[in-house]
Amino acid sequence: MNAYLSNLNQIESWFFSLAEKQAFFLPRKTQGINYRFEFIDHQQPLDLFSYKPTILPPGKNIFPDGEILFTYNKDNNGHYHFHQGTAIHSQLLAGVRACDLKGIYLLDKAFSDGTKDSHYLQRREKTDIIAFNCTTPCDDHCFCEAAQSLDFQTGADIFITPLFPISSNKEVHKKQQCLLEILTPRGAELIKSLVSQKCSNPQKLIKQALENRPKPFGRQFLTPVKQLSKVIHQEDAESIYQQYAERCFSCGTCNLVCPTCYCFDTKDELNLDGNSGQKTRHWDACLNPGFAEVAGGHNFRADPAARQRHRVRRKFDYLPQRFEQTFCTGCGRCGRQCTTGIDIFDIVNDVYLSIQESKE
Ligand code: SF4
Ligand code: SF4
Repeated sequence: MNAYLSNLNQIESWFFSLAEKQAFFLPRKTQGINYRFEFIDHQQPLDLFSYKPTILPPGKNIFPDGEILFTYNKDNNGHYHFHQGTAIHSQLLAGVRACDLKGIYLLDKAFSDGTKDSHYLQRREKTDIIAFNCTTPCDDHCFCEAAQSLDFQTGADIFITPLFPISSNKEVHKKQQCLLEILTPRGAELIKSLVSQKCSNPQKLIKQALENRPKPFGRQFLTPVKQLSKVIHQEDAESIYQQYAERCFSCGTCNLVCPTCYCFDTKDELNLDGNSGQKTRHWDACLNPGFAEVAGGHNFRADPAARQRHRVRRKFDYLPQRFEQTFCTGCGRCGRQCTTGIDIFDIVNDVYLSIQESKE
């Protein structure tokens, strides 16, 4: 593994030069409040490292809502012709934090399982990723260490660790050094346009930079996540899910902002000419009342408590059994974005507590 040293001024210039060559997305503050992964197309100050988690995770750039899967038309002989839908272009996602990198890794697993999802996989193939390491928890919501995604590197082309304490004063940072680890051949290509110097002792520098991280790093579950999964697998804890369901509006926001939620529905849209149309896919949400409704009107999860339980079990039981990974990255988005403050971190801890109490 090759590693290089460069400062923030140089990295910012490098990012602008990369943005001239391909679609380049980086977290940026919008309307003075929230951060989003935005298209960078002209030079303006970038908010490197000190940004808060974006509303939507970067994986949604690979799995976009409303994607056209294919279009079709009928010719004069009555034959149908099908055409590829939304064009798939290369893109570069920079500033991807370790938790969101793990979110993309889990989407890779889900969309490669069984019948491969060619739309996702083609776009993933054309997506380069420059990830950022975290030296401080993003805010009070995150629990990435507890969810085993802190320091996650798989899937990144380049992984950048700041060798300085993060502060909100960007000017202080400009000459501060970062360490860039090159993880793929594509990363080795991208680094060529950066003004940098080769680093011969990366592990020592990373160790020094990370030894001052807060311990524990962010919120911690009441028991290790593997243990938690066993509890959630075995027990129902109906009263806990019921308590949270009473506050839930079933809006589905927690699903839509989650980096590992990948359920979708499709729509067939016929044009007014009656001879052409398209098939599109749209994000779906298992917290929505109609998610499990089938023909004839039967709903397998009409009760909001059943929907809460299902979501928790998807993240901590069903999908971990299938993929051997917890499907919650600890990004904190669901708790951060929920209007009524429902946080999956609290639900799983409460389930664990109720089980412990019932044993006493
Ligand atoms: S975001 Fe909150 S209110 Fe909306 S469905 Fe999820 S838990 Fe319920
Ligand atoms: S369940 Fe919540 S904390 Fe976990 S990955 Fe999804 S949005 Fe993030």
